[in-house]
Amino acid sequence: MNASEVAAAAGAQISEESQQHVYDPPAALAKDAHVKSMAEYAKMYRASIDDPETFFGDMARQFHWETPFVSVGPKYNFNMNDGKIFIDWFQGGKTNICYNALDKHVLEGHGDEVAILWEGNEPSEDAKYTYSEVLAMVKKFANVLKAKGVKKGDTVTLYMPMVMELAVACLACARLGAIHSVVFGGFSPEAIRGRMHDAKALDAALELGAGDFSVSSVIVFKRLDGSCPMVDGRDTWWNDEMSKADSECDCEWVDSEHPLFMLYTSGSTGKPKGIVHSTAGYMIGSHATFKYTFDYKPGEIYWCTADIGWITGHSYIVYGPLLARATTVMFEGVPTYPDAGRCWAIVEKHKVNQFYTAPTAVRALMKSGDAYVEKYDKSSLRILGSVGEPINPEAWRWYYTVVGESRCPIVDTYWQTETGSFMITPLPGATPLKPGSATLPFFGVQPVVLDDKGNELEGEASGFLAIKKPWPSASRSCYGDHDRFESVYYSMFKGYYVSGDGCRRDADGYFWITGRVDDVINVSGHRMGTAEVESALVLHPSCSEAAVVGMPHEIKGAGIYCYVVLKDGAEADDDLVKSLKAIVRKEIGPIATPDAIQFTEGLPKTRSGKIMRRILRKLAENPGIELSELGDTSTLADPGVVASLKEGAMKVA
Ligand code: ATP
Ligand code: MG
Repeated sequence: MNASEVAAAAGAQISEESQQHVYDPPAALAKDAHVKSMAEYAKMYRASIDDPETFFGDMARQFHWETPFVSVGPKYNFNMNDGKIFIDWFQGGKTNICYNALDKHVLEGHGDEVAILWEGNEPSEDAKYTYSEVLAMVKKFANVLKAKGVKKGDTVTLYMPMVMELAVACLACARLGAIHSVVFGGFSPEAIRGRMHDAKALDAALELGAGDFSVSSVIVFKRLDGSCPMVDGRDTWWNDEMSKADSECDCEWVDSEHPLFMLYTSGSTGKPKGIVHSTAGYMIGSHATFKYTFDYKPGEIYWCTADIGWITGHSYIVYGPLLARATTVMFEGVPTYPDAGRCWAIVEKHKVNQFYTAPTAVRALMKSGDAYVEKYDKSSLRILGSVGEPINPEAWRWYYTVVGESRCPIVDTYWQTETGSFMITPLPGATPLKPGSATLPFFGVQPVVLDDKGNELEGEASGFLAIKKPWPSASRSCYGDHDRFESVYYSMFKGYYVSGDGCRRDADGYFWITGRVDDVINVSGHRMGTAEVESALVLHPSCSEAAVVGMPHEIKGAGIYCYVVLKDGAEADDDLVKSLKAIVRKEIGPIATPDAIQFTEGLPKTRSGKIMRRILRKLAENPGIELSELGDTSTLADPGVVASLKEGAMKVA
């Protein structure tokens, strides 16, 4: 950390101009928080960078190690000129993450505390599972897997909806040292009740798979009534297997660097990448970020609305919370069923203390109006979280005032599948917040802003967001393809992990993610991130959501093309186009004036709720493009939206 960053971290130089936009941590919350002030944050941050051996060593020693590590490290190479890229933490140690997430708590006398609080799609359906109960199920399921021949180092694919058995299956794999690979259930929100149809998708996938790999066993969990074709000799029922399984199962002790799981990225910018995470580093990273960022204390009820099929579910529904002995809510449904008040009904019912969701959900709920939120008692809420995309300041303020009743800090957590845990995030008892900024780095994380040539920029700057040194939960490889891992993340600027995101660091050292580097628009030589223009559009009272991409422009090089979703009741006419252009001009400047505006009912989103701008870019460039030329659309939540966007684009052109 350089001098100005330390000063910024200590809260010393929040500029006067930005002062009016800053939200300080509530004193009552800061008083009992794990990190109580910016001075404390700065001190811990310094220690994590200057002496990772002690800082992360102390954190790691809170867990059980069957064989203690001899050194913390990290040992690593981030520079392709010096050979293979590798990262290695906690050398010589042997542990097991399932043991630390379950057995340890039970042995220490906390077996009766609730580990998983499951809330079904139907509001009448819920269930509680204590740490002892989850452990008993995990041991049995580990024995089921063992009986199928699964052993340390094997890969097990999990394709399940949000039932607690999915968490059990992950933990059972970890117990055996098998690598789990969760494939997103893939249910569109509307189709949540029609999920039995998706069992067919699985059957089709298994048939397809027979060509180049073979599936010897399938264990089927029956969630709803309905037919499910079973193949003799290959397929068995979860419940039948569990009823026969032995109830004792020892942990397989694995090396610190033993792979824990692989998981695909969301596919926003291209073909999804199969990311591999290690055991010990991931354990320390997911636990520490969960504990400090949500200021979690045992006894509290924590709820993350993500699906376990993406990284947020892995780190912040399953591993982080269970390692911290939390009660983690697992929700099977969608925020709009039976109506747009469902989230707040759940908050009231279970007295949720921490609520963590994505900007796309915040915008959707904001669009439905305040009455749904105000109807419920939300006094239990202490901390709100956001993840997945930059959160527009407008949505941030609604989340803060209407949902959080101006009482709850919002932790805007910036990270990636590849990073395993939070990279840039506020700590709720310490960090003054600026709406739209993920604020400052987490312990052990050294972000830098690079220019086009890979030079580190000092102070206030915009450029490529990269990381200088390894943090414990950094991804170790792409599954079966280390070359791809090196070329995607380490080849662009030698010696750095390159995130693929653009960012701006302001005078206070705060980071603002400006969007994907691939999405940067170069208008008459000015580089513009998509996030800023989108945030300006969303300020308009008629605009509910916006996605911005570049389009070819004869004079400017690139023009600005905006896809706009209107709020219910808004009229899509010429006056609206004019006033939308005006608001962007006013907020950012004439250079950012949109060249084209296309109104649309919906945007193409990944199943994790992110806008797939690459599709929008191709349509803006060439509205006549064949749908088959749009690239990998396999992770789109609703592929149908593409055809109607194309139709709209033809009209604009
Ligand atoms: P792919 O890598 O396949 O294109 P993806 O990047 O969308 O997919 P994820 O790993 O799920 O897959 O998402 C990580 C990305 O999400 C980040 O690189 C960043 O662009 C965005 N993101 C996540 N959290 C935030 C946040 N708090 N603020 C801004 N952007 C965020
Ligand atoms: Mg990515």
